[in-house]
Amino acid sequence: MSAAKFEQIGRALRESVRFVVLGHVRPDGDALGSQLALGLSLKQLGKDVRIWNEEGMLEKYSFLPNANLLTKPPAEPEDVDVAIALDTAIQNRLGSSLPAVRSAKVWINIDHHPSNPGYGDLVYIDPDSPATGQILFELIKSEKLPIDAAIAENLYVAISADTGSFQYPNTTAHTFEIAAELVRAGVDVGRVSQQLYENYPRRRSELLRELLATIRFDGGGRVASFSLSLNLARQLGVLPEDNEGLIDHLRAIRGVIVAVFFEELPDGKVRVSMRSKNKDVDVRTICQKFGGGGHILAAGARVRGTLSEVRAKILEAICHVIGCDP
Ligand code: 5GP
Ligand code: MN
Repeated sequence: MSAAKFEQIGRALRESVRFVVLGHVRPDGDALGSQLALGLSLKQLGKDVRIWNEEGMLEKYSFLPNANLLTKPPAEPEDVDVAIALDTAIQNRLGSSLPAVRSAKVWINIDHHPSNPGYGDLVYIDPDSPATGQILFELIKSEKLPIDAAIAENLYVAISADTGSFQYPNTTAHTFEIAAELVRAGVDVGRVSQQLYENYPRRRSELLRELLATIRFDGGGRVASFSLSLNLARQLGVLPEDNEGLIDHLRAIRGVIVAVFFEELPDGKVRVSMRSKNKDVDVRTICQKFGGGGHILAAGARVRGTLSEVRAKILEAICHVIGCDP
């Protein structure tokens, strides 16, 4: 791993011609907003740019400026000079985009996950940054890359998504300074907030109603969890993107330190999504024990087993850390 400086990345961006900008599977606002923002900036530099995500653009984020530029990867590999992985802690989380970019001569890896091992040729990982979008803003600014209202709005959404709308403890004065610069660059805060937080499909509320019916508390109320079975997900016609943010209803409860969302997957695994409200309770370490990763206060894993098996194992591991009987 070579820790690259912005100058080296800036040079690679200016000197190469054909780019592909990638993000992780089951993308969130940080992945999609970051991909579009950097892709648009490169396009304005006159580059030949592809922007691919395994799932293509999600309905939920289709309001992002120039959302149509982000597509699913093609079935056949394409020739590119530089592949850029954004917000992607391990390379295989690029999913079906990976085989389509075999020809890339240079890999750039820009991320904020502390677990990122630093794959690629030019690597910039800042685990203190709340969002990959924030790192990209710093890169764009320091390398004087193009920025306009569309790029600013994509970056704003990326940062808003990973800071819980500028509420999580990873939000610093610097984050607000960047937000202010993005607003000056043309972000319509009211419109973006409405698109992000007041435009959910009705099925998401129906899902929340069912999830709340499964809520359980452990460790004397310090651990709150709810579960989604495959059956229920199918019955409600739930899309993976509907889940984003639902876990906040658990962390919103007074006394809760760890919130967990268990979601049964079709492949015999359970997706575990975990949040902590206390830096001394590091959920990344807990998730790493189950093959996952993430950040101290937000982590996840995919664990083989039935919903009840995985739930029992995970709750036991959490109780081991915070000191309680599961
Ligand atoms: P979420 O709960 O929103 O899916 O993920 C929270 C954080 O944990 C994100 O930063 C995400 O990258 C990380 N994460 C979630 N699931 C996994 C996983 O299966 N493996 C790894 N390594 N990280 C994960
Ligand atoms: Mn992120």
